[in-house]
Amino acid sequence: MTDLSVPTAKPEHEGVAIPPPLWLLAELTYRCPLHCVFCYNPTNYAEHNRELDTAQWIDVLRQARELGAAQLGFSGGEPLLRDDLETLVAEARKLGFYTNLITSGIGLTDKRLGALKEAGLDHIQLSFQDSTQELNDFLSHTKTFDLKNRVAKLIKAHDFPMVLNCVLHRYNLPHIGRIIDMALEMGAEYLELANTQYYGWAHANRAQLMPTGDQLKEAEAIVERYRKEIGDKCKIFFVVPDYYETRPKRCMNGWGQVFLGIAPDGAALPCHTARALPGLTFPNVTETSVREIWYESDAFNRFRGFGWMKEPCRSCDEKTIDLGGCRCQAYLLTQDPANADPVCDKSPHHERVIEVVRAASTRQEPQEQPIVFRNDANSRRFAERASPQEGGEKTP
Ligand code: SF4
Ligand code: SF4
Repeated sequence: MTDLSVPTAKPEHEGVAIPPPLWLLAELTYRCPLHCVFCYNPTNYAEHNRELDTAQWIDVLRQARELGAAQLGFSGGEPLLRDDLETLVAEARKLGFYTNLITSGIGLTDKRLGALKEAGLDHIQLSFQDSTQELNDFLSHTKTFDLKNRVAKLIKAHDFPMVLNCVLHRYNLPHIGRIIDMALEMGAEYLELANTQYYGWAHANRAQLMPTGDQLKEAEAIVERYRKEIGDKCKIFFVVPDYYETRPKRCMNGWGQVFLGIAPDGAALPCHTARALPGLTFPNVTETSVREIWYESDAFNRFRGFGWMKEPCRSCDEKTIDLGGCRCQAYLLTQDPANADPVCDKSPHHERVIEVVRAASTRQEPQEQPIVFRNDANSRRFAERASPQEGGEKTP
């Protein structure tokens, strides 16, 4: 067991107190029955196929709660593939976490929903790929649309608050009204319309998925109209893709400030796509305590504060607002994770973002480059190649 005694010195970085993690994401497994073209798991996930066992996960939950983590997401891959999920939820409940299950719905039977309710699960986030069977099943490379519809009804029958999540891109943006109608019919309390973030598998499929500016404008107008019509009946979140912005997002609300992700094999990550970054060794909970990882590890301290920044961020008067943006995006587009996120129009690399957006608007169908589905064979091919780079992560 790990030593949980509280150290006396207040942990600091660059003279500023390090806040405790608030949000713990437990990625229980990279296994998943679906093959989504925008999957946020690492493209080389097949290399990391070890999984923590039940006792190890319980130890992680206990340690993170000791540090102050309050929100807990059970995610994956598909967390329902773990048959100890109910045990972990019950333990989390005992520890006082607010728990959320992030799922594709595959495997969520009436029996399991009953067991999860009894274990004290608070919330369920169910993902759909589209409002049509054809596109849902194409994008996930499975026949799962009808099953997901049945699962949505079961979730409501068990009286869980439900977030419906749909990742948006060029293919399904024209269906946005129907996606909102679907969420309303299912009784979802929240609808998360998250435009694709271009990391991992989505980065590999960026040329196919990137929407046009007109598609986004139309979709936003439709979302606005629905918001006015439906009021509080369903809260709709619409996240604009950063490629269409001129300032980057405050990624993860700051590196090592709020978010602690634990990958299936126990690697601790300051953001779930951080594994793609070169030059960082991510500590593992099987070897190092969560406290030491959070406060002392190089991986969690590397991009805390402002000392790591290069120009133009270093002397920028907006650096406290966006903290220089996303390190993974900086790496994928400029090959240096310490650069300004090139979404920023002050970045000397901003032209790369403009080029991608321009190409999306002038693109002729069909694409020559085939779409890459997330699956073990493709993942092994990605793993065999050098680390992902701009222009180098397109087809395995
Ligand atoms: S995005 Fe799709 S393939 Fe990836 S973990 Fe989620 S459901 Fe599975
Ligand atoms: S230069 Fe850096 S800190 Fe300034 S706005 Fe752009 S990304 Fe943010």
